[in-house]
Amino acid sequence: MAKRVCFVHYHEIGLKGKNRSSFENQLVTNLHRALHEWPVDAIKRISGHILVSTEDGEATDEMAHAISRVPGVARVSLAYVCGLDQEEYCQAAVRALGEAGDFESFKVHARRSSTGYELHTLDINRLVGGVLCKEFPTKKVEMHHPDVTVCVYVVQGNVYVYADSMPGVGGLPVGTAGKVVTLLSSGFDSPVATWMVGRRGATCVPVHFSGRPMTADTSEWLCQDIVRALAPSGMVGRLYVIPFGQRQREISLAVPQSLRIITYRRVMFSVAERIARIEGAKALVTGESLGQVASQTLDNIAAVNEMVSMPVLRPLIGSDKQEIMRRAEEIGTYDISCQTADDCCTLFMPRRPETHARLDQVHEAWDSFDHNAMIDDLVDHLEYVDFDQCPSYRAPRSLKRRHRELGPRDEFPEGQAGEQ
Ligand code: ATP
Ligand code: MG
Repeated sequence: MAKRVCFVHYHEIGLKGKNRSSFENQLVTNLHRALHEWPVDAIKRISGHILVSTEDGEATDEMAHAISRVPGVARVSLAYVCGLDQEEYCQAAVRALGEAGDFESFKVHARRSSTGYELHTLDINRLVGGVLCKEFPTKKVEMHHPDVTVCVYVVQGNVYVYADSMPGVGGLPVGTAGKVVTLLSSGFDSPVATWMVGRRGATCVPVHFSGRPMTADTSEWLCQDIVRALAPSGMVGRLYVIPFGQRQREISLAVPQSLRIITYRRVMFSVAERIARIEGAKALVTGESLGQVASQTLDNIAAVNEMVSMPVLRPLIGSDKQEIMRRAEEIGTYDISCQTADDCCTLFMPRRPETHARLDQVHEAWDSFDHNAMIDDLVDHLEYVDFDQCPSYRAPRSLKRRHRELGPRDEFPEGQAGEQ
């Protein structure tokens, strides 16, 4: 019986000219990592596709699903691998169509990677189509919009046959766009923003500001859970945690109430940029969406943005909350973000935050405390936890202080998790 492999399709990498082979190699590396729990025999490039074969020759839907979540993958098909024997690949086509679920119409689409094979693609279409018409006499052949397309792909001495594809997440392989530092809270937005830049090929280094020691460390657990939820995409290798509670208290005593949030955020951006420089990251990423909350008006965004000189990417700036929540469900972070936890954002909140900050007032508040010493101290006391799930992540050499690795959220100490 013909073996089954996962046949991986990608679109955009094909457009990358000279970089194409490094993009493909990165995708192969990332697939190895994403499939490390499966008995993979080989992952190799063939003629504009990637083939994943298993030791037992029985690639499964679950494997295809894992592959579909890896950035760079446009589609994945479970394909039968046959020799050049016509009888063999026609039988594989019969099986593939038989497994395609409910359908009324079909067509055959043959391709050859070289002209070395004796039959032309039109001949293959006719041959395989004839066999399928006999086996499925009640079904129609439909050239324009068939319910199912049976693909017969002749490449390097083999014929791959499949009738069904699972859509992938698309984008580009993580590790091909450089590193970014993402500001990660346990809310809905920033995990989605992280995922979106990761899907465009960035290796993501999240930084979380916790309210510790003024709050419990629940938000830190949730952020670790979020990083684990993003594991199938292979985009995060390390999470930084900055205990910010004490410093927020100092800020809340020093600056006018209405400017507290902007001042916290100026400190957060400055610390994140320092971490980005340590990491060799080239941009910051936030989950801001225009006008969503007080700190996300254009005036306030400007008052915070002026702290940093590197680009700040805001992939959700034009998204509505509903769209963001839908994406959070797709990427597996929704349930985690549903659990509320105090973090630095809920600590020492003003009753009436400024929505249109005036820069002169912001600057006056900023100069009313020793912000440089505070930023230095926060960077000196950063903590981090590593996750073995991102092949493209390279850690900087210079850091020593590790954060405790926290278990999944169902191991929360009683009374901490998921409480409103
Ligand atoms: P989110 O759902 O991402 O928390 P939000 O709607 O709560 O966003 P804000 O609290 O204004 O909005 O945060 C805007 C952005 O600032 C977040 O998307 C995130 O990138 C960053 N941010 C907020 N809180 C934190 C935090 N505790 N640590 C790190 N970054 C944060
Ligand atoms: Mg938030």
